[in-house]
Amino acid sequence: MRAKALYLEDSYLKESDANVVSVKDGKYVVLDKTIFYAKGGGQPWDTGKVMKEDETYNVVYVGKFSGEISHEVDRAGLDEGDSVRCVLDWERRYKLMRSHTAAHVFASLLCTGTGALVTGNQLEEDKVRFDFSLEDFNREILQDYIDKANEVLRKDIPVKWYELPREEALKIPGVIKMAEALPPEIPVLRIVEVTGIDRQADGGTHVRNLREVGKIELVKALNKGKHNMRVYFKLS
Ligand SMILES: [Zn+2]
Repeated sequence: MRAKALYLEDSYLKESDANVVSVKDGKYVVLDKTIFYAKGGGQPWDTGKVMKEDETYNVVYVGKFSGEISHEVDRAGLDEGDSVRCVLDWERRYKLMRSHTAAHVFASLLCTGTGALVTGNQLEEDKVRFDFSLEDFNREILQDYIDKANEVLRKDIPVKWYELPREEALKIPGVIKMAEALPPEIPVLRIVEVTGIDRQADGGTHVRNLREVGKIELVKALNKGKHNMRVYFKLS
């Protein structure tokens, strides 16, 4: 049985009840449904805690293994069939949501404006890394796009997520931002849409409105060779 990924429907769920489906080696826990984001798509895993009666187990890592979402807890004690209460480290997750939405805005403006493609990206807890296929290494251009992003991030612009049949989704220009990555052969794609700015296939968690993001600032830019520029930015 596949756990229901509650965060895909509601990224603002901070707590939820769940049942333990299986436990491996005492600390790898599969739940019937989960609010914990599993590492993937450039977004880090969530942390938090799982509580059984008055016992607390810290969730230190969440990953997908053979399609199952596995929660690594810091100690043994959870058993198959247990009813538990899950609580996210919301501060960490909310920051990642703000960064993730900011990343879509920045990448969309830069790619649309320069014709660059995204060749890699990774959200980190304190910053966002992007690799772009951009020939012209120029910090001023980047700063310009950071400023443009900040203009947009001040606005009351909704962010929505929904599913579309694969064929329909793939007709959207720029729906696949990564230069080489196509989503796996699945009939329905989850789309994240920043209204009027960006639409892309994405399994991450986002804020509902750009005004929640705040401002971003350039941290550094590195020339990683021909056609490859690495950019780091962070939330201000
Ligand atoms: Zn994304």
